[in-house]
Amino acid sequence: AKRRSTNSYQFYTDAMRQQMLLRMELETILHQALENQWFQVYYQPRVNIRSGQIVGMEALLRLPYNGAFISPTEFIPIAEETGLILPIGKWVLQTACKQNKQWQLKGLRPLRVSVNLSPNQFSQKNLLRQIEEILMETGLAPEWLELEITESAFMNKGAATLNVFASLRQMGVHISIDDFGTGYSSLGYLKRFEIDCLKIDKTFVDEIGRNRKDSNLADAIIRMGKSLNMTIVAEGVATQAQLTFLQESNCDQVQGYIFSPPVPPAEFELLVNKENLL
Ligand code: C2E
Ligand code: CA
Ligand code: CA
Ligand code: CA
Repeated sequence: AKRRSTNSYQFYTDAMRQQMLLRMELETILHQALENQWFQVYYQPRVNIRSGQIVGMEALLRLPYNGAFISPTEFIPIAEETGLILPIGKWVLQTACKQNKQWQLKGLRPLRVSVNLSPNQFSQKNLLRQIEEILMETGLAPEWLELEITESAFMNKGAATLNVFASLRQMGVHISIDDFGTGYSSLGYLKRFEIDCLKIDKTFVDEIGRNRKDSNLADAIIRMGKSLNMTIVAEGVATQAQLTFLQESNCDQVQGYIFSPPVPPAEFELLVNKENLL
């Protein structure tokens, strides 16, 4: 028995060491990526569920490395822990606003770009000034920028953070709640903060047509959001059955592989020029 516990102990430390090495390696890569401008931003269309028209796009960070991409689900948590998310997040905001303005100058139909903001970024004291500066530098009007924040960014936040939120809204920047339904939902904040948009998490959408309870949940989220005058976006829509269900439930917009994965800017332009993606 003793030997077995020794073995399992050793196994555990090996796994831990491996994980630590991976983290350190990723942290080094993140530093290099920032310094050498390896990061890219891809764009995924948001489509109006009735007209089939593209009405916006989500900016998604890409990190090419050794001929492949390291997934944001791997490197974002490390960027958050190390504080690197602040310079990286600022770069994403700059890049997405600049790109959107370039598209507008080129004569593309004006679209809103939404950028993911980590809770750490949202708590930055200078976030408001940073965003004002980026909008000034790029010349993008605030109404063409949306920030995607997860529910946890609202929890346990002081008055200062909440004021930043109000100021952003006053400027005309849109705010959406990302991954809705997966966090601690004290629904009170939805009303208090006048959020523009709810994004229903992909895990609910995945179960549409498969699992009655989750389909009902998606439907209930849509009803609730609409009753608070919010725009409802379903994420990760991949099948026609899901799309039909969401159309019948009166969802407003969809994002998902059924239309397009996130793509580089040049490819996104081609999509926008299509009349209808349905
Ligand atoms: P998210 O904000 O929920 O973004 C949606 C994710 O779902 C994206 O993954 C997108 O590629 C993926 N997706 C969209 N439609 C489909 C679909 O039909 N099927 C499937 N299987 N997946 C779909 P991605 O780009 O890998 O990003 C993962 C997460 O990393 C994001 O989840 C977000 O939390 C984070 N992230 C990405 N870029 C940034 C960024 O610039 N800043 C911050 N703070 N986080 C980011
Ligand atoms: Ca998002
Ligand atoms: Ca999401
Ligand atoms: Ca997510």
